[in-house]
Amino acid sequence: MEFLRPTTWAEALAAKADQPEAVPIQGGTDVMVEINFDVHRPPALLDLNQVGELATWSREGDTYRVGAGLPYVTIIEELGGVLPGLAQASRTVGSPQIRNRGTVGGNLGAASPAGDSHPPLLAAGAVVEVESRARGVRMIPAHEFYLGVKRSALEPDELIRAVRVEAARGPQYFSKVGTRNAMVIAVCSFSVALHPGERRVGTGIGSAAPTPRRALEAEEFLAGELDWDARLDSAVLKRFGELCSRAASPIDDVRGTADYRRHAIAVMARRTLTWAWNDYRKVRAA
Ligand SMILES: Cc1cc2nc3c(=O)[nH]c(=O)nc-3n(C[C@H](O)[C@H](O)[C@H](O)COP(=O)(O)OP(=O)(O)OC[C@H]3O[C@@H](n4cnc5c(N)ncnc54)[C@H](O)[C@@H]3O)c2cc1C
Repeated sequence: MEFLRPTTWAEALAAKADQPEAVPIQGGTDVMVEINFDVHRPPALLDLNQVGELATWSREGDTYRVGAGLPYVTIIEELGGVLPGLAQASRTVGSPQIRNRGTVGGNLGAASPAGDSHPPLLAAGAVVEVESRARGVRMIPAHEFYLGVKRSALEPDELIRAVRVEAARGPQYFSKVGTRNAMVIAVCSFSVALHPGERRVGTGIGSAAPTPRRALEAEEFLAGELDWDARLDSAVLKRFGELCSRAASPIDDVRGTADYRRHAIAVMARRTLTWAWNDYRKVRAA
């Protein structure tokens, strides 16, 4: 197996253009597991760890640009205040060792329906920045990035450079059901983000459909029915849960049944919206 080690972003793009079959590796917490278990043996690995800029974040106006190689631990420690949904999800990933190595770029690259970063990225309206040597930069909204089980909109000659997420303008929450509290792949997960300026609520469903997805009907329902100056109406909350559950299309598998997942999505949708709404009302009252 060839081991490619670019030291600049331009070199990395050139390597991927010349060898599209080379598998990028960042933290390696997905790639190395697959190699160790002989799931597949790529002809070449493209190690991105020497491309320093990938492991950094920056701010452009109200938007945070999270480098594809930024480990979860840094998101938790440095971006928790501005990207609370993503930071909460990051705290639930694996164990300290996995959070030290694992990255959002790798989570996006793997495009597993169960990846924990996806629901908060969807709810926040994040945009994935990808690039190829031949066609330059493409900005892909998160809701267009996931195409199927472990399939994304990334072309064979493209690499993920960063993900752009607006600083939270309202409360955000992430919730995950697992068979235990740590080191667990989500049975299902849910994220909510309040966008009070636009009178809008964003959603993200994880591990309950072939791809992470938004609950669009539920978002539209809240856009029409939510009274932003009042208490959260229990009928609205219940309907929101039902519509989120309806947006899921889960399967039965070793981690849980489809019925359980549908039920859990409704519960998490109601809970996360309630938590977010209570925070929002508290800030307004202060
Ligand atoms: C013990 C254990 C526990 C885990 N727990 C969780 C969990 O709780 N939640 C969760 O979501 N995941 C979990 N994972 C999976 C994994 O840690 C995450 O998916 C992590 O985000 C992967 O990041 P990485 O940097 O290690 O990716 P890598 O393994 O380096 O890469 C993952 C994929 O992304 C591609 N890739 C990486 N970087 C780029 C790039 N810049 N451009 C294009 N493609 C790229 C790779 O080619 C590969 O297909 C766990 C894994 C292990 C081993």
